[in-house]
Amino acid sequence: MAASTSWELDREHEDFRASVRSFVDRHVRPVVDEAEAAGRPPAALMKEMGNAGLLSLAMGEEDGGHGDALAITLLSEELTRASGGIAVTALVSGYMAGPHIARFGTRAQKARYLPGLVAGESLAAIAVTEPGAGSDVARITTRASRTAGGFRLDGTKMFITNAGIADVLVVAARTGAEGHRGITTFLVDAENPGISFGAPLRKMGWHASDTREVVLSGCEVPLDAVLGELDRGFHQIMAAFELERLTLAGMGIGHAAECLALAVEHARDREAFGTPLTGLQTMRHRLSALEVELEATRLVTYRAAARHDAGHPEAARSVAMAKYHSALASNRIVDECVQVLGGSGFLEETPVARHYRDARVLRIGGGTDEIQLEILSKGLER
Ligand SMILES: Cc1cc2nc3c(=O)[nH]c(=O)nc-3n(C[C@H](O)[C@H](O)[C@H](O)COP(=O)(O)OP(=O)(O)OC[C@H]3O[C@@H](n4cnc5c(N)ncnc54)[C@H](O)[C@@H]3O)c2cc1C
Repeated sequence: MAASTSWELDREHEDFRASVRSFVDRHVRPVVDEAEAAGRPPAALMKEMGNAGLLSLAMGEEDGGHGDALAITLLSEELTRASGGIAVTALVSGYMAGPHIARFGTRAQKARYLPGLVAGESLAAIAVTEPGAGSDVARITTRASRTAGGFRLDGTKMFITNAGIADVLVVAARTGAEGHRGITTFLVDAENPGISFGAPLRKMGWHASDTREVVLSGCEVPLDAVLGELDRGFHQIMAAFELERLTLAGMGIGHAAECLALAVEHARDREAFGTPLTGLQTMRHRLSALEVELEATRLVTYRAAARHDAGHPEAARSVAMAKYHSALASNRIVDECVQVLGGSGFLEETPVARHYRDARVLRIGGGTDEIQLEILSKGLER
């Protein structure tokens, strides 16, 4: 029997990872503290990402796209090694909101929004969650009522990443009956007088990411603001979730890989009881066990990305597994790494502490742990 399955990344993806890592070292790491303090990455960094082609991987070829989900997962991992907050700002715009336009937009919508987004000159947000509806997307109540020239949107969105810095928002609103059938997505410009934004929400982590409440009040949009098909927004959101979840699984790997590298370095340098920490067998075992957990997370996630790219029939399940596993494993790994660093792991300015705070939200955003298990457990009942 000839083995046909490769468990290695091919040269193209390895080279891509290396180029992103070098970009991150040169452009992202130097601005992490500045971004944490400002509550957002510097605008210049987004343009540098655009110039380096890091925001266009998910676009169709005709719109300058040149990547696949595996490359996006690697991008996510490498950006997150430097900063979860900076990473998520770029990833939401390029790989969670932007793909809605690339995939469901008309020629005119793409021409209007995509060039700025892929260049990093503008940013996008996706506004689905509401104060009363998170996991249960079908319960959203933001209403889009027909007007003579288009629609009027009224409602409140909650926890919206990039809300205060985005130029355009993909907004989900109800156009039809209750439930998942009556939802439509709209493109709303941030400068629309009917949209307003709350103050930045103060979060446990992702301090370099802007998250706010969004209020739509008499927000008039033209007919051509409808993104995709009327009443099919729920399906469009679910279809885009696969890439979003892979991106989040990649973030988990990034947090875990960075913390493990820092923990190993610390364990080699730090002496206790007359030996470096790595001289203690329990410490060596602990670090090796974490390496196993990280490797398993990479394999589950990369395979899910490859399946997504190949249109594999089990791709959605693989992606749910990857999102679930990566979120939990990364939280376990970063927690253990704090332990390896001892008291210094608890200091606010220590990168491991920042990764610990940032990783927690991966178990919540993009579908919680429980929602991934819901997807995976379908069909178990008689
Ligand atoms: C920092 C941050 C950034 C975010 N960015 C965005 C964004 O850009 N755009 C956007 O639209 N949203 C965003 N969100 C919202 C995010 O997607 C939701 O928080 C998430 O989907 C969970 O919804 P919820 O908070 O309403 O929790 P709920 O849905 O109320 O869930 C509460 C608890 O109940 C559990 N639960 C719910 N249903 C089930 C079930 N069927 N079975 C078992 N348990 C269940 C959940 O798993 C969870 O543990 C963001 C959230 C955060 C924290």
